[in-house]
Amino acid sequence: MGNAKVIVAGSINMDVVVRAARHPRPGETLLGQSVQFFAGGKGANQAIAAHRLGARATLIARVGDDSFGGSLRAFVSQEGLDTQRVLATGGASGTALITVADSGENTIVVVPGANGALSPVDVEVDIEPGDVLVSQCEIPAQAIEYFFVRGKRPGALTLLNAAPARPLAPALAAAVDILVVNESELATLAGTAVGARDTGTVIAAARSLQSAIGNVVVTLGERGVVACLGPVVKTVPGRRVEAVADTTGAGDGFVGALAARLAAGEPLAQALVFANAAASICVERPGAAASMPTMAEVLAVL
Ligand code: ADP
Repeated sequence: MGNAKVIVAGSINMDVVVRAARHPRPGETLLGQSVQFFAGGKGANQAIAAHRLGARATLIARVGDDSFGGSLRAFVSQEGLDTQRVLATGGASGTALITVADSGENTIVVVPGANGALSPVDVEVDIEPGDVLVSQCEIPAQAIEYFFVRGKRPGALTLLNAAPARPLAPALAAAVDILVVNESELATLAGTAVGARDTGTVIAAARSLQSAIGNVVVTLGERGVVACLGPVVKTVPGRRVEAVADTTGAGDGFVGALAARLAAGEPLAQALVFANAAASICVERPGAAASMPTMAEVLAVL
C-alpha cells in the first residue's frame, strides 16, 4: 500500500485580498491600500499539502471559464499536482473577497461559483485498494457521497473534513471512515456548545457522532488534537511554535498531511502525530497553500 494515492474532491477558489485602513460602512466607498490574489480553497490546499509531503495526489475540482479559472489551473499544475480532473465549467470560478483592516480584522464573502457544479460524474476516477479519498463541505454533498460510496467498494479509505460544518445525510456519514473537524464544526454537528477548553466535553461530543462514524478527529488549535478512534481516545498535544504568523491553512495542512501518511500505510494514531506537527508549521508562515511544509521540514520538528 506504500504507493497508494490521495484523491481530493473539493473546492478551489481565488482569494482576492484587499487591505484598507478600516472596513467600509454600508453604502460607503473607500480607497484601499493594496490588492493581492492567492489561489486557495480547502480542496486545493489539502491536495497541495499531501503532494508536498510525498503523496501521489490528484485534485478533482471545477474552475470557471473566467480569467481566474486559467490562473487557478496554472497554480495547481505548477505545484506538480495531477490536474487532469481540474475541469472547466461555465460562469465564475469560486472567489473569496477578503478585506483586511489595519486592525487585523477580516471580513470575507465567499462565492462558490464553479465549485457548486462539481458533479458525481466528475468524481468517477480510478480508485485502488488503500487509496485515501478526501473531501470537505465546499462542494455539493451529492458528489461527496457518490465519491465515497463508490470508492469504498475497491477498499479505499475515506476522510471527510466537515468544513464548513453542515448536517451530514445518513448515507454520506455511513460512507465516512474518518471525520476531521475543528471545535466549532464539532459543536455544529453534535449540536452542543463546545469551546469550554475542556477536553471531557469535546470527547463527549465526538463520542455522540460515533454512532454514525467510527473515527472522529477534533483539532483544537494550539492545544493539538483529540481523537476518538473506535473505543480508544488518542490525544496529541499542540507543538509550541516560536511565533504565530497566520493560522489560515492550518486545518487544511492537517488534513492533507493526515491523508498523505495514511496513503503511505501509517496507522491512524501515528499519522495524527505527524499531521499535528505539519499543521503547526503552517501557522508559523503566512498564507494558506503557500504555508504547507515539506517532508524534511516536518521530520525536523517531530
Ligand atoms: P482550523 O484551522 O480548521 O480551525 P485548528 O485551529 O484546530 O483548525 O488547527 C488545526 C491544527 O493546526 C491543530 O490541530 C494543530 O495541530 C495546528 N495548530 C493550529 N494552531 C496552532 C498553534 N497556535 N500552535 C501549534 N499548532 C497549531
